[in-house]
Amino acid sequence: MPTIRVVRNLVVYLAISMGLRAHAGPPPSVDPSHTHGWLRSAQARLHELGITSVTYERRLIDNEDLLESDLPAAVAATLANLPDRPDWADHLRSRRLVDVDTLGILPVAVDVQGQTALVEYTEKPVSFISNAPVSKIKRKWGLNALAEEEGAPWDPHALASLDAALGLLTPTELDIITDLSSIVRSMVDPDPEDGAAGKYFGGGTDSLNHVEIYNSAFKGAEQVFVGPASAPMPSVTGTILHEFGHAFAARPARYLEARHMLAVEEFEERRLVQAARSHRLDRLRGQLNHMGSGTSFSSSSSYRKKRELYQREMEVYDNEHDALSRRSDVLHRQVELIEALGTPGPIVHTYARIPGVLEGPTEYGRTDAGESFAEAFAWWHEDPEGYRRAYPEAAAWFERGGHIAALKQALAAIDMLSR
Ligand SMILES: [Zn+2]
Repeated sequence: MPTIRVVRNLVVYLAISMGLRAHAGPPPSVDPSHTHGWLRSAQARLHELGITSVTYERRLIDNEDLLESDLPAAVAATLANLPDRPDWADHLRSRRLVDVDTLGILPVAVDVQGQTALVEYTEKPVSFISNAPVSKIKRKWGLNALAEEEGAPWDPHALASLDAALGLLTPTELDIITDLSSIVRSMVDPDPEDGAAGKYFGGGTDSLNHVEIYNSAFKGAEQVFVGPASAPMPSVTGTILHEFGHAFAARPARYLEARHMLAVEEFEERRLVQAARSHRLDRLRGQLNHMGSGTSFSSSSSYRKKRELYQREMEVYDNEHDALSRRSDVLHRQVELIEALGTPGPIVHTYARIPGVLEGPTEYGRTDAGESFAEAFAWWHEDPEGYRRAYPEAAAWFERGGHIAALKQALAAIDMLSR
């Protein structure tokens, strides 16, 4: 296979030159071909990044009779254009969609960890298009609503991104997403300064509980992808998963707020009933006093009946008074917990205890613990293997359902407190 041969040459060439570069003469030449220039640039770039070992994985080979194609050049070009590794990270991720004349749009994935790069690519052209109509995607996942603004449609690319994101969720995670009042394709970023690609709006009321995906998420989306090269997904899938991560993390706070609002409503109703009861008791007391002032009436049956009624009502009143004061304590404890949960909430707190996670996993994830969790949530779903290579401990936490356990624990604590 000529394609493989050229790439294999690149491996050998790199392996030799990396080790010898400092004291070797000019690099050995590879067979002259159209890939030559890219191979040299790739080699130089890998050297700059301190990468001494490269592993290539070629997947999904459908066509054994490929011409000596531009694919190795595409791979080399991706390597040549690797971004700088941030100074805080040992890892580097690059996902490029490369347009190869003879083959179409091909995904090339590079994961750098320490001095090692794993390069994965396929010869299977990708196209991120969903032919299903909005209504079908909505029904398929049981979503409440897919809203769109003028100039921000749920077009086939956006729908493919959403479909892929939903397909990666576990049932518990999906429950939280189907609880969203809407997923909105939005034209306008309410805060263009922060350059957000999406946003989660959370709160106890349904109208507040929704995700917005902005047009800015689609900028440059034709050049990149997320996930492994063997299962590439649109980059907007990553944006959507990030927002789903926020919705997941906000679940305990939202659950508590919703319970609190219901409890306040119930409390107010009971208080009104109790106030009416108090009025009735006042009236009965007045009548009894009036009747009791004439001695001839105090032993009459109507007086006795009224007295019994008064006593029964008074008992209900006292019981309800105690119950209401207990409910009032619950309401106060709920308010205290709402303040204590705050942001980023118990799930993110648990995540944040994993050593090293808050330093990443991406530049944006370094903003705060909540963003770090959302980025990790997205990366782990998109590409569990890649995430595991960079963050083995956090990946193990997600894999054993650590985030779901933290969620369930928080909900149980809220239930306990709300009793
Ligand atoms: Zn975010």
